[in-house]
Amino acid sequence: MSLSDLPNPKAAAELIAKYRRRFSSKVCMAPNLDHHGPVVAAHTLSVEAMLRKVATDSHVYVVAQAKRFAKDTFPIEIHRKGLRDVTVFNGFCQKHDRDLFACLELEPFRFQRQQCFMLAYRAVARECYLKRKQFESIPTPDEVASVHGVEQKIQFSGAMLMFQAASLKGAEDVERLKSAFDKHLLAQSWDRLVTRAILFPSTPTVLAAAAFQPFIDMDGNQLQDFEDLESETSQICISVIPTETGGAAIFSWLDSANSAPQRYFDSVVRSQDLTASVLHVIFDNTENFAINPSWYEGMTESEKSYVFSRVVLFAQNTTYADSPRPDQTAPKLASWGEGVVAAF
Ligand SMILES: [Zn+2]
Repeated sequence: MSLSDLPNPKAAAELIAKYRRRFSSKVCMAPNLDHHGPVVAAHTLSVEAMLRKVATDSHVYVVAQAKRFAKDTFPIEIHRKGLRDVTVFNGFCQKHDRDLFACLELEPFRFQRQQCFMLAYRAVARECYLKRKQFESIPTPDEVASVHGVEQKIQFSGAMLMFQAASLKGAEDVERLKSAFDKHLLAQSWDRLVTRAILFPSTPTVLAAAAFQPFIDMDGNQLQDFEDLESETSQICISVIPTETGGAAIFSWLDSANSAPQRYFDSVVRSQDLTASVLHVIFDNTENFAINPSWYEGMTESEKSYVFSRVVLFAQNTTYADSPRPDQTAPKLASWGEGVVAAF
């Protein structure tokens, strides 16, 4: 499908242009006031300390906008991309991108309190930057009517309104979380972050940095209610990174969170295959990851299709509730060695 197939291609093009402008807007997310230099494309996974360890010829595989629109295909795909452009967002000025994350960029990751905090902070800042924009990007009924050349007033369905309301609430929840993180950052209260990890002897074949609201655990138990607009939801941060001894999947949340993050983490480690479990946390919940090219290119077509089917799984909640654990039924995709669960 192309824009010219739509009844009003001009309205559609304007909508897309507005959408692109919104996602390329530049703002420093640091709470400090001493901003300096231009806002840069900040990496949420460090280039040298992290991405380089899984890259081939400075490239990894990532989720990105499909290069070509075609009928009945997804607007996103997994493709190869250079390190300079992957896992970035326009979210920090030059000074803060350099100074705030120096403990991650210049020192080996050794689970120091500040390192754990800054790792989570970067993921939360990205989520906060994107969530509000995602909500703002849901087209209004008038915009939808205009694109489709409909004269009469369109009204959103109940499900669409629910989605819109929940998206706004999701944005507000992550903004609240970011403010709490900002307060702890300025006070250097690194201890307010609870950190758990799975340590692997091998370098993970997929790296990730994300924060999300766990609504249901891997065993299908409900943790929080997506449709309850009154309740305050908690988020969990996950970073999968290389370490000096292999790799780690690091889960963290603030000590003020409700029980959802801890219970979600408990369900992740209640697995026979911790690599599979972590791969599903990544693919099922986030699009901010980087895949090792030799691993990806070595997969069969059906394994690649399986991975993609998880990335475009927008209904984890019902899928998890109605199916056996995904790490038990999935094809065996990788092994990063015997994982060990640890608290920091
Ligand atoms: Zn700044």
